[in-house]
Amino acid sequence: MEEKKLVVPGEKLGVIEEVYPGDSTYTSDGLIRALRIGKAVYKKEEREMTVVPTKINLIPIEGDVVIGQIEAVQSNSMTMSIDYINGERSRKRFSGVILIPREQGQRGRQRKTHCKVGDIVRASVISTTNAMIQMTIQGSEYGVIHAECSICGGKAVMVASKLNCPACGNIEERTLAEDYGVQINS
Ligand SMILES: [Zn+2]
Repeated sequence: MEEKKLVVPGEKLGVIEEVYPGDSTYTSDGLIRALRIGKAVYKKEEREMTVVPTKINLIPIEGDVVIGQIEAVQSNSMTMSIDYINGERSRKRFSGVILIPREQGQRGRQRKTHCKVGDIVRASVISTTNAMIQMTIQGSEYGVIHAECSICGGKAVMVASKLNCPACGNIEERTLAEDYGVQINS
């Protein structure tokens, strides 16, 4: 068995010409998709794609994918409220800290603006030691998924890895997730 990444309901796992649909999957239009949140596991011998459902956590744990809103930005970290844990809405008002990736060979240069207060961000939980939730946004799937223009408050779109405001033309720097602009279900 080969462990794969965390998948969310509806996520494409393969095509029926190549693999069989297994537990916690469904097929539509020739595609195998995840029925539940969990780890996608490919059983090589059976050529079967399955999803091993994730237990719904009461608290975020290491390896969880979380979505929330930036509440504060410090020099080495950012504080984020956690609204979704592995795609499930959490109303427990957890809050954690995103460690800002260390920059190499950029001494003296202005620090990159990774996120601003109010941004909606997808992050990965890397530690919960001493009940402190620590997260990272390193990795192409992590970073800002929704932001508003800091000049006019308009909804910003991604153009060439930067935030672009169609309303006022403002361009801003952020660490954007590759699927920036994705809709999240509430
Ligand atoms: Zn604007």
